Amino acid sequence: NLELSQRVKALKPSPTLATDAKAKTLKAQGVDIVNLSAGEPDFDTPTHIREAAKEAIDSGFTRYTPVGGIPELKAAICMRLEQDYGLKYNETEVMVSTGGKQVLYNLAQAILDPGDEVIIPAPYWVSYPPIVELAGGVPVILPTEPSDNFAINIDKLADLITSKTKAIILNSPSNPTGAIYDQETVKKIALLSVEKGIYIITDDIYDRIRFDGKEPYNCASLVPEARQNCLIVNGVSKAYAMTGWRIGYLAGPENVVKACTKIQSQSTSNPTSVAQKAAVAALTGPQDCVFEMQKAFKERCHAFVESLRNIPGISCPMPDGAFYCFPDMSAFYGKKTPEGNIIKGSLDLGDYLLEHARVACIPGIAFGDDRCIRFSFATDLQTLNKGLERIKNALEKLS
Ligand code: PLP
Repeated sequence: NLELSQRVKALKPSPTLATDAKAKTLKAQGVDIVNLSAGEPDFDTPTHIREAAKEAIDSGFTRYTPVGGIPELKAAICMRLEQDYGLKYNETEVMVSTGGKQVLYNLAQAILDPGDEVIIPAPYWVSYPPIVELAGGVPVILPTEPSDNFAINIDKLADLITSKTKAIILNSPSNPTGAIYDQETVKKIALLSVEKGIYIITDDIYDRIRFDGKEPYNCASLVPEARQNCLIVNGVSKAYAMTGWRIGYLAGPENVVKACTKIQSQSTSNPTSVAQKAAVAALTGPQDCVFEMQKAFKERCHAFVESLRNIPGISCPMPDGAFYCFPDMSAFYGKKTPEGNIIKGSLDLGDYLLEHARVACIPGIAFGDDRCIRFSFATDLQTLNKGLERIKNALEKLS
């Protein structure tokens, strides 16, 4: 029987990677595409981090390591959690995986039984629902509003909690909205999860890219009694421009860390040895590179979003961090393209912008909100301005 599994047949490929691939193919064919779809910093990995990797290779640090990461990297993670959040974790409470994505995958496999529910505020990162589903879990979506800067309404969240609820996923700063949940909201969610006995998966992958200049916080740092409920997910991809190195980490209760390590031991084993050494250099070395990138993202964000808001029909909350904005563009739905096609939703608008403006972006439907489009500003100001001009011209042609 050469049929594929029901599980894989039900799985959709990552739409963000698909759009990125479409834009790259057009670019390779010589089409001048402005790519505003990227989910990674446009900067190179800082020199001292690359040097650490070269040294690891030259010194023969090229063999299997402990499954959950080398002690040196676990110590570096504990040090960062303490410096950045004032949180004290020991090395048995952290583990390293092949990117934040594998941390999330391991977690879903470790905590979910078939039918268990996971509350996911929308707009959400595209991979959350499939990761939950691959573990037999059921995503329960909590919608939020662009007009409210995508804030979580605690009463609506409480209404969704059932006896089957196992976890809620928080991502702040958020991909795709760039929104940061305010401290009061995070505190209330933490207290609610303690009361209801559910996990909070706090995806802090963009925590170092925040524009308010303040220290990051999460449920465990704001509500100490929620520490047992908090599963902290982070990594080096976004903060240190290290997406290709594939290093992410988990901090949480020892039993969950042990369970995830067991899953990893029977799937991928350790993350790459050389990349682990590079991650040690990233977490323990000079942090100015992080602040320099943060400054560039903030400058681009303000320039881009302010110009975007000047285009009639677009409304866009100002992001608090990350490198994305998520404007509501539904005012253009129902309009006609010069070819006479009706724009019915974010997929049509995304295609129209790619074909007519030669701008690649990601339709909001991929993130659970069809009203919006995600633009990434992980590219230089000149490219952003070129993209804006093209978007404006293309939108003016809709009637
Ligand atoms: N979480 C969010 C919200 C993301 O946007 C990403 C990457 O795009 C990840 C997790 C995973 O990052 P990585 O696997 O590169 O660490």
